[in-house]
Amino acid sequence: MAAKTIFQRIVDREIPATIEHEDDLCIVFRDIEPQAPVHLLLVPKQPIPRVAAATAKETQVLGHLLVVAGEVAAKLGLGQGFRLVINNGPHACESVPHLHVHLLAGRQMTWPPG
Ligand code: AMP
Repeated sequence: MAAKTIFQRIVDREIPATIEHEDDLCIVFRDIEPQAPVHLLLVPKQPIPRVAAATAKETQVLGHLLVVAGEVAAKLGLGQGFRLVINNGPHACESVPHLHVHLLAGRQMTWPPG
């Protein structure tokens, strides 16, 4: 069996995290190295490696992540806006092979991203 990713270990409560939301399908916690005043990671409990590895079977959980992003943003009062990012593969600087959505907020973002 493949080694657990660090995010799977957070899901399984083997390592600590500051958790903002949890339900049957996903967990949301604070990024350990925040790139904005609010930097959350939305992680499916099911360990899909990345978007490129997702299949139609994962449609519900992937859609769920976006709905939860909006709900958590509302809960945290992020009415000025937020940015969602998914890094897929080396050119995008993916570093943890367990699909996750970054939610960044609390400052003015710029475009294009780096
Ligand atoms: P990515 O580069 O898109 O794969 O994002 C991985 C993210 O996970 C980075 O922003 C890291 O700061 C974050 N990260 C790594 N380990 C932890 C951890 N133990 N708790 C919270 N965030 C983490």
